[in-house]
Amino acid sequence: MVVKLNHEWQTELLHHKGATDPTTGAVSVPIQPASTFHQYDVNEFGEFDYARSNNPTRQSLEKAIAHLEEGTDGFAFSSGMAAISTVLMLFSQGDHLLVTKDVYGGTYRLVTEVLGRQGVDITFVDMTNLNEVAQSFRPNTKAVYIETPSNPTMKVTDVEQLVRLAKEHDCYTIHDNTFMTPALHRPLNQGVDIVVHSATKFIGGHSDCVAGLAVTNSPELAERIHFLQNTLGAVLSVHDCWLIMRGLKTLHVRMDYASKTAMQLAERLQAHPNVARVFYPGLRSHEGYDIHRRQSEGPGAVFSFELSEDQDVNQFIEKMDIPVFAVSLGAVESILSYPAKMSHASMPEFEREERGITDRVLRLSVGLEHVEDLWGDFKQALQN
Ligand SMILES: *Cc1c(COP(=O)(O)O)cnc(C)c1O
Repeated sequence: MVVKLNHEWQTELLHHKGATDPTTGAVSVPIQPASTFHQYDVNEFGEFDYARSNNPTRQSLEKAIAHLEEGTDGFAFSSGMAAISTVLMLFSQGDHLLVTKDVYGGTYRLVTEVLGRQGVDITFVDMTNLNEVAQSFRPNTKAVYIETPSNPTMKVTDVEQLVRLAKEHDCYTIHDNTFMTPALHRPLNQGVDIVVHSATKFIGGHSDCVAGLAVTNSPELAERIHFLQNTLGAVLSVHDCWLIMRGLKTLHVRMDYASKTAMQLAERLQAHPNVARVFYPGLRSHEGYDIHRRQSEGPGAVFSFELSEDQDVNQFIEKMDIPVFAVSLGAVESILSYPAKMSHASMPEFEREERGITDRVLRLSVGLEHVEDLWGDFKQALQN
């Protein structure tokens, strides 16, 4: 099903149907904490009965994200992992899934240690290599799971080509769109069946709420995901739904501003003698530059970089004064993280190195600070 927006995305973000409360005109959707709803008619129940199944506050967020991803149905969960886990419960014993090699660590743990135990077979594939993808399908392959750009080396998957291959094999495509958000990339338009998000990151945007979202434009999948959401029950609380809706309103300006800063920092770092490599799809030198440019509206606010051999990584991190040194990303404050010791700590060293995630690779999620302050911080931390 094709969903069309009435305005530019940025305008739609603030004025979509549902942005105001239809009963009062309130410009902020009310928080409705009721867990149950009185039924006025014994034989015909109203739209809401029990809040796990559906409630007005969550419904507002779910409609908003569905609309903004240009899909038909949205679902809100208690975390990104809750969204991903619920969606992957679509699959059963005997099914086979192709999962991107660079998948988020929590998803890696879910598919290897939980889905594997339940008899779902997984093959990890380099999704930038379409030949490898084509050769990995089996008669029982049911879905392809992708992230683009991937974490932390920002590898770009050609979504349209990937979808074409998946459709040829009668498979669904599931796309984790956390890094780009619908402000920069709307994969359902490219034929993806289900988009998932950690709304903890850019969509919430303020490091104050853990949340997950899923969107589809298939009525059949929507019905099945709603059934699973209600059955598993990992729904987002109404207070957190409200926080995510509040964060969402500034998503476009935040992504736009932070991406511009990220671009300037990536370019300057690439030219710096103490930096060996910069991984950012906004740089012409990046392998996936053309594909990324074609399929999305900007390079995003996250890049990684590798310090040159003569740099002491620990000293560099200690000297960086402005960014928060932490896991996570997508916040108003810049966040510096160290994949080898954080997101990829559980990965064996040789596998890490093979993926380019050496002990000298760091990732920066750019926030809303002034670019010159961030650059000044880099310059003093890189000098020694
Ligand atoms: C953080 C993250 C997740 C998991 O989301 P949580 O909200 O932490 O459960 C999934 N995918 C990506 C790409 C992430 O960055």
